[in-house]
Amino acid sequence: MSEFGGNKASVVSLYGQALAPETFDPTPEVRALWEKVYNNMREEFGEAIFRSWLKPMALQACYHGTLEVSVPTRFMKDWISTHYVERIRQMCKEAGEGIERLEIVVVHGHASEEIKEEEAPKALKSNVNELAEKLDLSSPLDPRFKFETFVVGKSNALAHAAASRVVECNVPFNPLFIYGGVGLGKTHLMHAIAWELKEKQPEKVVMYLSAEKFMYQFVKAIRAQDTMTFKEIFRSVDVLMIDDIQFIAGKDSTQEEFFHTFNALVDQNKQIIIAADRAPSELQGIDERLRSRMSWGLVADIHASTYDLRLGILKTRSVQLGVEVPEPVLEFLALKVTSNIRELEGALNRIVAHADVTKSEITLESTQDVLQDLLRSSDRRITIDEIQRRVAEHYNVRIADMHSSRRARSVARPRQVAMYLAKQLTARSLPEIGRKFGGRDHTTVMHAVKKVDELIAEDPSFAQDVEVLRRTLTG
Ligand code: ADP
Ligand code: MG
Repeated sequence: MSEFGGNKASVVSLYGQALAPETFDPTPEVRALWEKVYNNMREEFGEAIFRSWLKPMALQACYHGTLEVSVPTRFMKDWISTHYVERIRQMCKEAGEGIERLEIVVVHGHASEEIKEEEAPKALKSNVNELAEKLDLSSPLDPRFKFETFVVGKSNALAHAAASRVVECNVPFNPLFIYGGVGLGKTHLMHAIAWELKEKQPEKVVMYLSAEKFMYQFVKAIRAQDTMTFKEIFRSVDVLMIDDIQFIAGKDSTQEEFFHTFNALVDQNKQIIIAADRAPSELQGIDERLRSRMSWGLVADIHASTYDLRLGILKTRSVQLGVEVPEPVLEFLALKVTSNIRELEGALNRIVAHADVTKSEITLESTQDVLQDLLRSSDRRITIDEIQRRVAEHYNVRIADMHSSRRARSVARPRQVAMYLAKQLTARSLPEIGRKFGGRDHTTVMHAVKKVDELIAEDPSFAQDVEVLRRTLTG
């Protein structure tokens, strides 16, 4: 039994989690002591801190010189423990009754009043960033992923414009949903938004994390029986960014939790930004309600890159790397490495590293040499005949139409696609390609390449067609 009545065994479970507060009935001495400390806290720490952090503390138990008080969330416990506990312990000691130690325990839904939103726990809000970091909730931001380093082209103009609006205006649309294939710059844009907000609106609490991490944290919170803290943190941010949302497909309880978080934030007019590898409607395994909710704001897709964009990115990157790469090498890379930007950058890094290590110049020859494996698919001798045959089959036109002078769109477009692929997948020059297409001029081929490039950027289903063809040819 304790000095002041109240039995430790009856109030604290085996796991150190306190049980219902009703089981503890403090003696009048303990009650008076706590009252004194409580008032001291208010006086000494000030009303704002008291309300945000200390007010919900409730007397829980008293035994062998230890005073035990509860708070409703782990989040609060951590905060109090790192910031105020020493001083409070001191106060308890000074209040007499032989108290030497102070224990803080988490009791969910405990007796004392919980913090209400309108009580404006400002301290809590401004500390969410710090806490989120401490609790490892936010993901780190890549310092290279800024707006300054993001090259804008036709294929990503909408997503870029939308991202800029989010930084300039207060919740212009909610949510902003960015989607596109792998390595096309979704994460780059999200980080850019986060960096910009940090700089321009530092008072805002911005949280960026992957859906995978969101789930991991949620599961962890469930295990620790502390979903309160989890909810509390996620619902007190100003901007929530979740990357690769497709990850939560089929993860029902995570979806459910995300849905509630989503609604709570939208209700408070807080900005939500989501990235995925496909459109909301295509997210199989994600609840219909959530899918439709996610497309309520602005949905911006990033299309496959164009030659011009790739060239622009390569130029920006080489400036960043501080190396001068000859223009023909950049053009060659922009033409040959088309699958995604990550690979394109990887290719550039490799030739730069190679030149650095071997102390040699970067040339077209050395580039072809260094990237042999990457370019092998295009080196495997794909013939123009083969391309013409496959393309004709795909679009259901006659092979003869590849050579004919017919200009109807139904044959002209497949012909242009074939020319484009010939340029991309073979080592033939523009005049050579022209000759193979019924003796056309090299400018006609150039025009075709440009046109197809544009269409790829504008029309996702066309882009997919070309990609399928490219893969069957190189596969
Ligand atoms: P995603 O998230 O869409 O898979 P990332 O954002 O990770 O793709 O981009 C992959 C790489 O390509 C990153 O290094 C990124 O900086 C770069 N990148 C993509 N798009 C652009 C762009 N428009 N301008 C500059 N770099 C880009
Ligand atoms: Mg990404």
